[in-house]
Amino acid sequence: MKHLKLFAATAIASVALYACSTVPLTGRSQLSLVSDDQINPAAAASYQQLLSSPSTKVINSGTDAQRVKRIGGQLASAIEQYLRSNGYADQYKFNWEFNLIQSPEVNAFCMPGGKVAVYSGLLPVAKTDAGLAVVMGHEIGHAIARHSAERMSQELALQAGGSAVGAATGNKSAVTQALVSQLYGVTGQLALLKYSRSQESEADRLGLTFMAMAGYNPNEAVGFWQRMAAQNKGGAPPEFLSTHPSDATRIANLQKLIPEAMKYYKR
Ligand SMILES: [Zn+2]
Repeated sequence: MKHLKLFAATAIASVALYACSTVPLTGRSQLSLVSDDQINPAAAASYQQLLSSPSTKVINSGTDAQRVKRIGGQLASAIEQYLRSNGYADQYKFNWEFNLIQSPEVNAFCMPGGKVAVYSGLLPVAKTDAGLAVVMGHEIGHAIARHSAERMSQELALQAGGSAVGAATGNKSAVTQALVSQLYGVTGQLALLKYSRSQESEADRLGLTFMAMAGYNPNEAVGFWQRMAAQNKGGAPPEFLSTHPSDATRIANLQKLIPEAMKYYKR
């Protein structure tokens, strides 16, 4: 077992030499064995499948649907401006979409490539536009930091072991497809969206910065997460709570991140 782990670690290390990408803003280097060209179309198809499913009710008109689209648009244009001015523009071909889904679930997600959904159950907890920007910024943070691709890459490296090097260069579309369906689920359900704790922290950091760039005060995040914590009793926790050690720890971490985000805050 120890040998196996060591072997896998060596494989990852050797692959990482030429299959790395850098997360904007945090500058973190990450394993990158699957490209946006492979993941984004699969994610977009999965998103479309969810929206068109008979069990999904997309709210297309009204103030709340417009709010989701407006705040999403503000976040997207601020992020794209940041990516352009920091030399990342070529690396991102996002095809943004923002939809409000009728559901009691207190949740939201952003799939790779910029496919965002907000569940109407989140609206009373988000309360304000800034509250919505906190969650949407966080979810978009996962997509900009390519956390799904990173998790898939780690899976690939572990599954393939020594042949991960081959997988990185050869035809791996079948493997990618299998991983996408495994992660996203055939019904568009979001079993996939399980991120690691460090990815959650990174998404928090990116989210605070993105909301600030879009004109929302990052200090609003504290109140939002406190409302979320009060809300979170019983049942499965939403994606953005699931892997955090505790609400108190998260809020303490957010408070440490706010000064950095404030530098980007445009009133
Ligand atoms: Zn998250």
